[in-house]
Amino acid sequence: MKTTIIITLIMLFANYGDSQNFKAPIEGEYGKDFIIVNYIDWGTNQITDFYKGTKTYAGHRGTDFTLSGFPQMDKGVFVNAIDTGVVTFVQDGEYDRNTDGNTSLGLGNYIAIRHPNKLYSYYGHLKKNSLLVKIGDKVSPGQHIASVGSSGNSKDPHLHFELWYDSLYLVEPFAASCGADNSYWEESIPYDTVFHVWESGLTDFIPSINDLKNRPVAKVKFNEQDSIITFWALQYGIKEGDSTKIEWLTPNGSLWFEYSYTYQKDWWYYYYNSYILAPSSDIWGKWKYNYYYNNKLVVSGDFEVEKPSGIYEAETPSYYRIIDNENIEVFLPQNIIANTVKVYNISEQEIIQKDIRSQNSFALNIPNSKNNPEVFFVSIKHKNGYWNFKIVL
Ligand SMILES: [Zn+2]
Repeated sequence: MKTTIIITLIMLFANYGDSQNFKAPIEGEYGKDFIIVNYIDWGTNQITDFYKGTKTYAGHRGTDFTLSGFPQMDKGVFVNAIDTGVVTFVQDGEYDRNTDGNTSLGLGNYIAIRHPNKLYSYYGHLKKNSLLVKIGDKVSPGQHIASVGSSGNSKDPHLHFELWYDSLYLVEPFAASCGADNSYWEESIPYDTVFHVWESGLTDFIPSINDLKNRPVAKVKFNEQDSIITFWALQYGIKEGDSTKIEWLTPNGSLWFEYSYTYQKDWWYYYYNSYILAPSSDIWGKWKYNYYYNNKLVVSGDFEVEKPSGIYEAETPSYYRIIDNENIEVFLPQNIIANTVKVYNISEQEIIQKDIRSQNSFALNIPNSKNNPEVFFVSIKHKNGYWNFKIVL
């Protein structure tokens, strides 16, 4: 029995290890149009991809060619037949914007093709209504057969590709120690573990991961109406123990805030985001951000924090009165119709928010346990803009 299996396997690789010249199952260029996030798991006790690496997860039976997000999927990325063959099965009509893995949904929309030499290819998670072939159709190498989607058990738009011999053996199309003797691909597709930031940007709210998958509105100018400035990045090639750091610099170059994060595991596809509260004091102008991977600068950019219009400088103490080191009273000019007041500490953390509609004066209790003088920023939102001032208590 054992001998039979060994002979069969030797025959398998003897027949199919050297002679394939398959087209890539996805249109485009590695690292630009797609990346590979997961390979086949060949491990028994622990995960192992064909390269003896960890670009896989337990029990994964195919290769995941992954897009940069839903906007790219919406533009359309073709899935191509790897070789001549006949379509043996198609499934269409499944919802194609799934963002959480649900194993019961399987491959979602998919296509199966029988090729010469008893090889079968499977193309899963396809975009709904994008299928260009039907059962019985003959296909040629590289022919467009559908578009990449996120149907079925899928968290991000990607193509799950499987290759089988005679519906019995899962075939590894990549060449390396655990894979085929030679690559099955006409053009080699790199085995890539290097860290990359694929895309990044700024926006004005705290995005959820699904907001990031769909891309938040890009912003480079912020004003007093914005309460949040977020930096986000789609990155891949993170190894356990790696760290990233975001640094926010004021227009005069001084460090406003920094945040470091150390990763506890390998991440082959990861959405990062970190935010600051939009500066509400008088630090207007061109700000800068730097993003580091293992202390090496990988992304930097700048953005504008605009001086608000209609601001009333509270230079004169007549607009507020300090009662003691925790209490002040604020008097609003008669022409101001105010809505809310917010108080921020020196770290830009909001410590008070209060409704002050239809009030001409109001008291604020500002917790200030320190003996040293402490700086606070008071921001009053009114009908025509904001009235900001700094106080020392
Ligand atoms: Zn997969």
